[in-house]
Amino acid sequence: MHCPGCSAVDTKVVDSRLVERVAVRRRRECPQCGYRFTTFERAELPMPSVIKRDQRREPFDENKLRTGMLKAVEKRPVPVDAVDHAICEVIQKIRACNEREISSRQIGEHIMDVLRRLDPVAYVRFASVYRRFEDVEGFLQEIALLQADHREKR
Ligand SMILES: [Zn+2]
Repeated sequence: MHCPGCSAVDTKVVDSRLVERVAVRRRRECPQCGYRFTTFERAELPMPSVIKRDQRREPFDENKLRTGMLKAVEKRPVPVDAVDHAICEVIQKIRACNEREISSRQIGEHIMDVLRRLDPVAYVRFASVYRRFEDVEGFLQEIALLQADHREKR
């Protein structure tokens, strides 16, 4: 793989690890300029199309998922590895449904499921944007669920 920094034709792998058994994450370094970057390798399996709120269909977009989740954990003490695992987990949940289509609502539920365990603040951030809490009641219900989760952990 060429270096994204200086376009040298070869970069070396400095670390390689398995993520959730189905993907490999590699840290690479350019011997020319020292640029470090990460690549992912994952089997290309078909993903269901996404049914949006307005019933339009669009292909599943992993970048969108990643951006949304990174936004939620922004400035939170969550390691990059944990976010990678969380993303893989969401993707596996989506695949596990084994349908040709999945609603964006369902994807949102899977993401919230994973974020709830990852980081409570990230979860509330995501949920508040995602559900655009229709009423205060709904918001309070989420907070109550969250507190119950935390009591379970203790
Ligand atoms: Zn380079």
